Amino acid sequence: MDSAYLAAGRDIDFVLWEQLRLEEKVLAHAKFQHCDRAMAADILHRTRDFACGVLGSLYQSSDREGCRLQPNGHVGLPTGFLEAWQVYQHNGWNMLAIPLEDGGLALPYPVTIAVQEMLYGANPAFMTLSGFCVPLFYLIRRFGGATLQALFCEKLARGQWSACLCMTEPAAGSDVGAIRTRVEPRQDGSYRLAGTKIFISAGSHDLAENIVYVVLARIAGAPPGTAGLSCFLVPRFRFDASGRIDGDNHVSCERLENKMGLHGCPTAELTFGSHGESVAYLLGDRPNRGLLQLLSMMNQARITTGVFALGMASSAYLHAARYACERVQGSDQRLSFSASAPRVRIVQHADVRRMLLEMKSTVEGCRAVVYKLAAYVCMTQLADVGESNAAGARGAGAMVDLLTPIAKAYVSDQAWRVAELAIQVHGGYGYTRDCPVEQYARDIKILSIWEGTNYLQAADLIRDKLGFGARPALLEALRDQIRGSLPDLVAAELQPLRRQLDAALDRIGETLSLTAEWSRKGRIDFVLSHATRILRMFAHVVLGWLLLEGAVIAQRALQRIAPGAGGGEFYAGKILSARFFFANLLPSVAADAAIIGGADFTVVETSPEVFAVGAGQ
Ligand SMILES: Cc1cc2nc3c(=O)[nH]c(=O)nc-3n(C[C@H](O)[C@H](O)[C@H](O)COP(=O)(O)OP(=O)(O)OC[C@H]3O[C@@H](n4cnc5c(N)ncnc54)[C@H](O)[C@@H]3O)c2cc1C
Repeated sequence: MDSAYLAAGRDIDFVLWEQLRLEEKVLAHAKFQHCDRAMAADILHRTRDFACGVLGSLYQSSDREGCRLQPNGHVGLPTGFLEAWQVYQHNGWNMLAIPLEDGGLALPYPVTIAVQEMLYGANPAFMTLSGFCVPLFYLIRRFGGATLQALFCEKLARGQWSACLCMTEPAAGSDVGAIRTRVEPRQDGSYRLAGTKIFISAGSHDLAENIVYVVLARIAGAPPGTAGLSCFLVPRFRFDASGRIDGDNHVSCERLENKMGLHGCPTAELTFGSHGESVAYLLGDRPNRGLLQLLSMMNQARITTGVFALGMASSAYLHAARYACERVQGSDQRLSFSASAPRVRIVQHADVRRMLLEMKSTVEGCRAVVYKLAAYVCMTQLADVGESNAAGARGAGAMVDLLTPIAKAYVSDQAWRVAELAIQVHGGYGYTRDCPVEQYARDIKILSIWEGTNYLQAADLIRDKLGFGARPALLEALRDQIRGSLPDLVAAELQPLRRQLDAALDRIGETLSLTAEWSRKGRIDFVLSHATRILRMFAHVVLGWLLLEGAVIAQRALQRIAPGAGGGEFYAGKILSARFFFANLLPSVAADAAIIGGADFTVVETSPEVFAVGAGQ
């Protein structure tokens, strides 16, 4: 089967090397002296080949075949995944993000993100199978003692063992504090764990020789709620002191979910300890710290969710763009009265171009957001080793706080919108399974649900990070970054965009003053009813900023291209993306501010009974 994946190599290069100026801002530091541009470019080139080849060619076939729970409780995966896994491990893709001292390449985070964009976009189901190996490696490095590190870290880094995160239970989804899985101490210092976890991605498959389940559970006698949760490592198979597999650990796969998408990745219901003892290892030496320990891994998973969304949305957009340039249908609108008017490619219809421009500006804006976030993470790492000043590190830290929920929630919501538009551009063909865009829509939808639903991201932003508007430090940090990155003298035609951006920032400031006032009056319910809208306002300003930054860079690049020399189309396209976004999407910030300012409280005043009436009749 042909590859379904289309990579956005030129825009990825633009963001990394021209917009983030990675060579000067990151690679020049001693911490990253082991990596130069040529090495990064070579890795990106190989990634593109693997994504567009092996992974992309399995995208649709694995969706059609899906996973099967076999009578022996093992999960059968789609044809071709075993071979792809072997190539993946042989080529050491996991090692790109592993520290040098552990034999990895320790690539700077934006380069890893670029690699992930292509791999996740090419085959999200396959990539979910190895998705938690590297995050768990870091979790154990940070919190696990020497014994756990020696047992697990190398195997996870090399993909010999894989990992799953097990939080969700039937009565504990968003409400993590309701987790009931129980743990009791054993005599040798380990624990026995019993309970049921549902919706566990990549459970019970046989690609790796063992799977490490990272389980949030409650030690007998622990306090209720999140304060009583501890984090345990529960291997699928037991092992001896040398790490050799020596028996079953009684983690059973009871069923697989019948899902809307991601059919190539099993989503398992797992029971622990119901057919025998499931041995568990406490992470670290202090119980009841589980949620705190998982925080950084969960933040990382939220960024990764944004990367999944970006990778698929980008490929969906490129499919739509390619199709629109090939499909002939209808005539020039000005000649539509004439039956003999020549037929045109649909890209010549203004409405199709409207859809393409919305997809293009959204995808490019989302890419800039996710990569910029990765660059800020890098800056905080540089500060940790004394290679960045305190003020720079503070600003970067604030931007990581702001951009993480945006990367998770806004990018996943926009990816869904992009996939929908890509189907629309394809017309009836887009609705069929011959064309991969319907699969992108199905595969993308989960991204707004897992790793904390998108509402939870919005609530985290307005409640925990902005103090319901009373602590607007992140808005000020954003203003500072915009001021520092956009030179005063942008080209004349871009100056109105700069003014529009400042006006949008002011609308956010006014909105936060209002929500702070509501909060002072004890009406946090009013504020939370607008949480999703407030996150979107921030996201639109951030996208506007980064698209404008890209346009300024493109403008300068165009000035360097001699007239008639060619090669300017890409840069001209970057300016168009910004112009389209500012004219068509950024105005929604003022509209959102007006809606919130209108103080209509229908949402909080509507009684739940209104929805119960008629349900089930
Ligand atoms: C394909 C797939 C893969 C998954 N993989 C994993 C995995 O690997 N590991 C794992 O542990 N879990 C996994 N999950 C579970 C996923 O994280 C949960 O589905 C998610 O956390 C939401 O929980 P829930 O489904 O119980 O929905 P609920 O929590 O019941 O939420 C339903 C709706 O109510 C809203 N809501 C809930 N509480 C509140 C509140 N306090 N305020 C406002 N609104 C609220 C939500 O935003 C949502 O819109 C997976 C799920 C799926 C479908």
